[in-house]
Amino acid sequence: MVNTVPVQREALHEAVPEVAAFARPAVRLHPRQAEPTAEQSSAGGPLLWPEHEAWPTCDGHQGRPRELAPLVQLFKHDLPADRALPDWMFPGSSDLLHILWCPEEHGEARLPTARLAWRNASALVDASARLPEPRDLDRAEAIPLPCVLHPEVVTELPPLNYAGDDPTESELVPPILPAELNERLSAWRHPSEPERPDGASHYWALATAPGWKLGGWADYASYPGRYARCPCGAQTRLVADLMSAEGLDSWWQPSAAPDFPWKGAPYDWSFHEPTQLRLGRDGFQALFGCTADPGHPLITYIE
Ligand SMILES: [Zn+2]
Ligand SMILES: [Zn+2]
Repeated sequence: MVNTVPVQREALHEAVPEVAAFARPAVRLHPRQAEPTAEQSSAGGPLLWPEHEAWPTCDGHQGRPRELAPLVQLFKHDLPADRALPDWMFPGSSDLLHILWCPEEHGEARLPTARLAWRNASALVDASARLPEPRDLDRAEAIPLPCVLHPEVVTELPPLNYAGDDPTESELVPPILPAELNERLSAWRHPSEPERPDGASHYWALATAPGWKLGGWADYASYPGRYARCPCGAQTRLVADLMSAEGLDSWWQPSAAPDFPWKGAPYDWSFHEPTQLRLGRDGFQALFGCTADPGHPLITYIE
């Protein structure tokens, strides 16, 4: 199985071992364009769906209800059995996670609305492959191209504490790291890597993985603080990061997996942006969920 946790992490853990206490599991999905079957973990592919169960729809639009589009199907058996997973990922006896969304615009921010659904794959006796027919898709860029997933469990480290001077942001984003630890991480430079042009710490490059992933830490330097809170007031957690770019040139590269489908040609976008999902200018898409009540609607972020 592929391992993309940067080798440069070792030097960080040696220099600042206390940060390990803040590590969190995440699942990098590594989508690669293909023709997934309903028995495979996929992005934008057919879902393994019970025959007797209606396909979910969204009523928030004029005319006919809009069929939801599949974002992710993830089978637990595609993940290593000996690794801790995000604790919300497979509740109870579930072993199949579905993430769907209505790709149309909703509300003032005109964002798609997503939902999670769980199943027990072995109990799906009458299930078959389901994928809504593409119809009136005026937002094709909100529907991922079909990809097979190559899931990998990684550990991520929290973002550095908010350092700006916006009082609203500091109120929304509580500090995660103790001040002294935050200071050491902010000043940390890898002993054998070149200085960054902006002189910044190398920590950012090692803390969170790029590309499509579930769970882990949200990089709150990229996400405005309002996504750190559910409307009920509770903190949110990162459920899914659906970044357009997989960051194949980052430090998060396979250390030993010669056969893993990695980059292709330098400008082969089927590798660099395999899902072609891109709603905002910068290609940042993410889903946040409430930590107090998983029944609260997911919050969609786009930039
Ligand atoms: Zn809708
Ligand atoms: Zn809530």
